[in-house]
Amino acid sequence: PVSIFWFRRDLRLQDNAALYHALKGKNPVLPLFIFDKNILDKLAHNDARVTFIYQTIESLKKELRNLGSDLLVKYGNPEEVWPKILQDYPVKEVYTNRDYEPYARERDDNMFEFLRSEKITFKTFKDQVIFEKDEILKADKTPYTVFTPYYKQWQAKLNDFYVKAYPTKRYFKSFLTTKQLPLPGLKDMGFEKSNLQFPKISYTDKLDEYAAQRDFPALNGTTHIGLHLRFGTISIRKAVSDAIDAKSNVWLSELAWREFYMMILWHFPYAAFNSFKKQYDKIKWRNNENEFRAWCEGNTGYPIVDAGMRQLNQTGWMHNRVRMVVASFLSKHLLIDWRWGEAYFAEKLLDYEMASNVGGWQWAAGSGNDAAPYFRVFNPELQTKRFDPKFEYIKKWVPEFGTKKYAQPIVEHTFARERVLKVFKEALAT
Ligand code: FAD
Repeated sequence: PVSIFWFRRDLRLQDNAALYHALKGKNPVLPLFIFDKNILDKLAHNDARVTFIYQTIESLKKELRNLGSDLLVKYGNPEEVWPKILQDYPVKEVYTNRDYEPYARERDDNMFEFLRSEKITFKTFKDQVIFEKDEILKADKTPYTVFTPYYKQWQAKLNDFYVKAYPTKRYFKSFLTTKQLPLPGLKDMGFEKSNLQFPKISYTDKLDEYAAQRDFPALNGTTHIGLHLRFGTISIRKAVSDAIDAKSNVWLSELAWREFYMMILWHFPYAAFNSFKKQYDKIKWRNNENEFRAWCEGNTGYPIVDAGMRQLNQTGWMHNRVRMVVASFLSKHLLIDWRWGEAYFAEKLLDYEMASNVGGWQWAAGSGNDAAPYFRVFNPELQTKRFDPKFEYIKKWVPEFGTKKYAQPIVEHTFARERVLKVFKEALAT
């Protein structure tokens, strides 16, 4: 008999909760990764994240080959792949780490039923967060919807136990010894290799100055660790203990924001596709397609907005301050449904995380759980004065800024502000 350890968004051998428990179990462990057609079929053929995953899978395979084992890699719909795996291997137990997104929950619920019908136990573990689901609740046992009190309790509960690494290495001899297993080609799955640069996991040098620098997009003051947290190439326990060691409270609170939004998505999955505050779905969005295209391409004539969108298009990343500005601009200045912007970010961001992206967009649109009040409309010019006063960031991404070639503003600020206040007020009054 063998145990399968199923990798999903936890692509590392070190400090991996479910892998640790699998290796400590009775049976030899065969690790598995499925390139899921249900997810891949929705992506562009040059999606850079697929290249990142592919390269990570290649290096995991190499690590496992060095241990005399291998990674079983499949391509297809998990519901079709699993019965085949059960034909090839005498599987007794399946171990995996929990994933809180709506699609993942449905997939895992189905998997649980299927494996149970085959008399196989499906064991899931908390790995991608310090605190999940119901671990941080209000006194009345309902979930927090406001970050500050949530974070207070999150910090109070945090101790060494929760950040301790799982010592997987100690049990590496429990991997199944196997001959070399095949790896489907990236091309065979319909993808091209992307040439985008992926950020390295090297962030501890940023933590000292993080609080002072994080809001200025011209400085390289943030860690770019989002992609690695998304795919689990670093463990959250490691990141949180590094934050504690560096005494970087601000950075620690950013990691808690990530979990806060994951907790919100777990408790309120409808808010992945609908406004958290339901009356915001009554807003009459203008949804002008030409204006949307100008925003996507970074041609709105608002330099800070255009710089951000071009940074996103060229690198797959955008600075947080600028994400807030462009999101506010789309939903408020242009009155375009926040879901359009959310979807565009989902396509382009290397660090795309459904919970944080939906959370960030709803915050900006005013429809979210812990949102700025709707009548607070970001002024792009004032944001520039405060956070890019010498136009360094803008000039980097918009070289024609200040010349005749640069686009005229797509809408006038005061007019747009009054328009959005009127439309929001009408929708929220009904
Ligand atoms: P750092 O500033 O170094 O922070 C470290 C980590 O903390 C981040 O990688 C991330 O995991 C977490 N974090 C930081 N800020 C936030 C935040 N406000 N909310 C949740 N987690 C946070 N973050 C994503 O990870 N994925 C997204 O798809 C995403 N979409 C966003 C959309 C909008 C409209 C807005 C306003 C914010 C969004 N964010 C998203 C949050 C934030 O902008 C990014 O996490 C951050 O810019 C990533 O850069 P970094 O890795 O250098 O972060």
